[in-house]
Amino acid sequence: MLTQAEVITFFNHQLEVWEEVNQRFSDLNNVLSKQLDINGFEVTISHNPMRIRSSAAKVDKASIAARQCFLCDANRPAQQLHINWKNYRILVNPFPILPRHFTIIAHEHRPQSIATAIDDMKELALILPDFAIFYNGPACGASAPDHFHFQAVEKSALPMMTGQPIPFGVITLNGENVTQQSVNNILSRLPKNDDEYEPKVNIFCTSETNVPQLTIIPRRKHRPDFYGEDGMLISPASIDLAGVIVAPRRVDYENIDLNVIKSIYSQLCFSQSEINNLLNDNPSI
Ligand SMILES: [Zn+2]
Repeated sequence: MLTQAEVITFFNHQLEVWEEVNQRFSDLNNVLSKQLDINGFEVTISHNPMRIRSSAAKVDKASIAARQCFLCDANRPAQQLHINWKNYRILVNPFPILPRHFTIIAHEHRPQSIATAIDDMKELALILPDFAIFYNGPACGASAPDHFHFQAVEKSALPMMTGQPIPFGVITLNGENVTQQSVNNILSRLPKNDDEYEPKVNIFCTSETNVPQLTIIPRRKHRPDFYGEDGMLISPASIDLAGVIVAPRRVDYENIDLNVIKSIYSQLCFSQSEINNLLNDNPSI
C-alpha cells in the first residue's frame, strides 16, 4: 500500500532529476508575499509570475478543444515521473504554488467531475495525513477541465486548514459522513447553470488521526468581475479560497488590498447563512 513517506521520496527524486522544476520550487522561497487579515483569517498574497499560465488560462470549450491536453500521457514532458496509484498517476506539479505540490491525474482523458471521486479523495487523504487533497471544479479554477485531476499541498500551508475563521460559507463533513452519497445529496441542493453538469465547487479532503474531513466551498461564479488584462489577472481556485491568493502580475500584487480580497470572496462565495438556507438550515447532512 502506498505511504506518505513513499510519496515524499518520489517528490524529492523528481526534483533531483528535473532541474527546471527544482528551480521553480526553490524560487518559491523568494516569491514576494504579503499578509492581510480578514477578521482573523490571515490571507497570504503570493506574487508568483510562473502561475500566469494558469491564471490567464482560457478554459472555454473552444479553447480547450483547440489545445493538446497537457495531462495526457502522450503530452507530458519526458522528465515528468509518476507513481501509479489506483486509476491515477501522482505527479509533482511543475508549476507549484506551495512547497510540496502534487497533481493527481486520471489515467484516461475524461472530464473534471466530482460525481465518482469522493472515495478516492478520502483514501488519498488518509494515505497523506500531512496534506490537503483538493478538487477544482471545471468552472472553478481547473486549468484542465477536460482531464480529471485533483491536487495536494501540505495542509499547514493553507490558512483554512489551520483552524482560522473562514470568511465565507462552507459545508463540512466528518468521519463516516464523508461519502459520495452525502456529497451528491449536498450538490443536488446547490444552484447550477443549465449548461453545467455539476454546481460550482471547490472541495478539500484532509485526515486527522485517521478521521477524514471534507470541506465543500460552493461558488457563485468562476472569476471576479474585475478579472482580465485591464483589471486583475487573479483567477481564484481552491488554494486562493483557502487563503493563499496567487497574483502572477506585479501590478495586481501591489493593488490587492483588504477590500479587493473581501470583494473576491463575496463575489465568488456564498455567506454561511446563504449556504445554510440552501441546505434547508441543515449544514451537516
Ligand atoms: Zn488529457
